[in-house]
Amino acid sequence: MKKVLLSVSGVFFLGITFLSAQQLYTPRNIMKAYENGTRSLDGSPGEKYWQNEGKYDIQETVTPETATVSGVEKIVYTNNSPDTLKVLAIRFVNNVHKPEAPRGNYTSDNFFTTGLDIKSFSVNNEQYDIDSKNWGTVEAVRLKQPLLPNSSAELNISWSYRLSKQDGREGQIDSSTFYVAYSYPRVSVYDDYNGWDFLPHTGRQEFYNDFNDYTLNVKVPENYVVWATGDLLNPDEVLQPAVAKRLKDSYQSDDVIHIADFKEMQDHKVTAQNEWNNWKFSASHITDVCYAISKNYVWDASSVVVDSKNNRRTSVQAAYNETAQDFHSSVKWSQNALKYFSTKWPGVSYPFPKMTAFQGHADMEYPMMVNDGTTSNLKFAQMVQDHEIAHTYFPFYMGTNETRYAFMDEGWATTFEYLIGQEENGKAHADSVYKMFRINRYIHDPSAEEDQPIISMSTQVSGAGYGNNSYGKASLSYLALKDLLGDSLFRKALHHYMDAWHGKHPIPWDYFYSMNTGSGQDLNWFFHNWFFTNNYIDLKIDTVTKEKDFYTISIKNVGGFAIPFDVKIEYVDGQKVIMHQTPAIWKNNQQQQFFKISAKKIIKSVQLDGGIFMDYTPADNTWKE
Ligand SMILES: [Zn+2]
Repeated sequence: MKKVLLSVSGVFFLGITFLSAQQLYTPRNIMKAYENGTRSLDGSPGEKYWQNEGKYDIQETVTPETATVSGVEKIVYTNNSPDTLKVLAIRFVNNVHKPEAPRGNYTSDNFFTTGLDIKSFSVNNEQYDIDSKNWGTVEAVRLKQPLLPNSSAELNISWSYRLSKQDGREGQIDSSTFYVAYSYPRVSVYDDYNGWDFLPHTGRQEFYNDFNDYTLNVKVPENYVVWATGDLLNPDEVLQPAVAKRLKDSYQSDDVIHIADFKEMQDHKVTAQNEWNNWKFSASHITDVCYAISKNYVWDASSVVVDSKNNRRTSVQAAYNETAQDFHSSVKWSQNALKYFSTKWPGVSYPFPKMTAFQGHADMEYPMMVNDGTTSNLKFAQMVQDHEIAHTYFPFYMGTNETRYAFMDEGWATTFEYLIGQEENGKAHADSVYKMFRINRYIHDPSAEEDQPIISMSTQVSGAGYGNNSYGKASLSYLALKDLLGDSLFRKALHHYMDAWHGKHPIPWDYFYSMNTGSGQDLNWFFHNWFFTNNYIDLKIDTVTKEKDFYTISIKNVGGFAIPFDVKIEYVDGQKVIMHQTPAIWKNNQQQQFFKISAKKIIKSVQLDGGIFMDYTPADNTWKE
């Protein structure tokens, strides 16, 4: 036993780039990933890193009258792991609609359906007798022949399910509009730190999927338009010539083009006049595909250069009910967002060929798609759309595990939403929206739920604990690190992390160690402070004393978070001085700091101002003579 322990710590210390004074708590299953060399303590994928993958050929048919989706698919699933797989975990999250499914939230009768009906299921041409009646959102299918390392299996599945009348992240939006997501049975993730992902979907947490290649064919009745993840492969087959031409023109245009207006939709001037049209899409190395259909929505499109080095353009589209005023600006907002995200923060070229904003009720991201509600508050509508588009980077470019570690995507989307908001509406407005919408409720709620460590698994927290750990607190940690490192070093470190892990499955420790290496600093003290403690935000001026030539200001960090803040000093002669402190001042002492200030002039008042790092008890942040 002792020998094993020694070798474990040996691996840790030999492999580490920085001999940290502060070690980060690491769960035992994740320690094993480092010992096995699938992950590396320098923050990069280990020499033995692997991930499994699938090639999905999907054909679905939507029958709007019955709100039924029926499908057939061929999945070629490749086991790149060193393990022999005796079962395949098959996931179908829309079984969350079954009345008997465990759910995170209250729902109405209109949410319920009978769930997935598997009609046939074969592996390598061998039929399996599957009764999906009692399936939950993820189910093990025992393989007749185990799947060996470095080999593939071909699955052929046919199925159907009903779309629910009450839509959430998917479902029926109006009598002839549907958002169809998570619509096909898929192989759940088998990974190096946890094996099969058998966590049930409850409607609260989000998703964790492999990077797969897809062809997606969607058959719908005439006059229904289909908007989907991926490139539309057959515009000339499914659209009337004039409409197909406008769509193709939009791929090269900076102007917003109305691909189909309301009258054209009503007059049946948009889709090919066949009883059914089969819309074909493809997308590669992506974690999911979804689509929406409507025969009354209008359709706008344009495009935007997302990589000036090679002039690569991305198609931006919007589909909405003509009465939704905010959506008339949607394509312009998408152009602005893709340009900002590609060139400023995170400063990585938008990685996909398309982005479609669809009007539903979800305020939710999907690869190359967002499904947003409509509101008369245009600034808020743009903010929500920016947020959902920002998710392109986390979790879709970086294949994070949203189910377990929601802060790895929501925290970043919230951060990018704030940063792009500064450019769109000025810093004062962005600050006030961020404080009101993301921080205010959290910091003024003293309950224990709020102060659970951010590293807590997202499946193990709920309510306020889930929301604020995933969004506000995590975002503050990223913005505090940006302040600590300065923009250029923070960008360098962030790009180091993103270069190392895009298209892969990073976990929190990969982020921490990657940022250490990318910044050339040992930041474990900072990550421990923000992610592994019950800290909150509360500074206090303890004392201000004058001795001979100096004032000594003693500041206590009551809440504990390593935040940046301004020390604002006003002298009796009216002069004001602001001294910005980065979180670095908390590196060696996270409880208390002292400032010495010349007493040549008499101080009238001292104030500590954290800005968006809102203080729990602001009254004790001010001292007056
Ligand atoms: Zn989000």
